[in-house]
Amino acid sequence: MRGFVLHTVRVRDEDLIVRILTKNEVLTLYRFYGARHSYINVGYHIDFVIEESPKTTIKRLRNVTQLPFSFLFDLEKMLDFKIFISLLNSHLSDVTKIDDFYYNLLIEITNEMKNRDSKRLLIESYVKLLEKEGRLHKEFECFLCEQKINGNIALARAFLPAHERCIYEDGFEREKIKELFENKKTILLSDDEIDRLWKIFNLGM
Ligand SMILES: [Zn+2]
Repeated sequence: MRGFVLHTVRVRDEDLIVRILTKNEVLTLYRFYGARHSYINVGYHIDFVIEESPKTTIKRLRNVTQLPFSFLFDLEKMLDFKIFISLLNSHLSDVTKIDDFYYNLLIEITNEMKNRDSKRLLIESYVKLLEKEGRLHKEFECFLCEQKINGNIALARAFLPAHERCIYEDGFEREKIKELFENKKTILLSDDEIDRLWKIFNLGM
């Protein structure tokens, strides 16, 4: 079975409780410590076996091998990817059964990361996720005052559109956000604007 490590918690010194996103499930598994076991880290794509455990309700994680990606040693890309995964983990906190969109999205990200700016790729991926969940507001109506936004688009947490005056934040040029929301492309946005969007994204999925 294959999945992405969403979260790990160390228990009893060296054992781990590991949360894993697979194609159709979010699993919580227990891994006993073993000196020869491969290292497990948040964001890793792993191949593994689930072992039923008759004495406990939590199943065991066995035979873990890491499936390497091309940007594993690019620290900045790896850090950004881990931030994305951590936010995804919180977002999926109550989930056990899941649409394969999420696993496929992470596969797509790991395939494209090498040749892309990580923050741009992850912001575009996040907009795809918002659309999939029906939370992408392309009509540009302010979530606070519920009036149409005519000028710049300010964005709140989860990229909710608002008037600049309603959330006391500088907005983005309308065409740039339109391109991002309609075509999932950051191409019109400057690096400074990408940094601002990244900070908003970091408030939570
Ligand atoms: Zn408003």
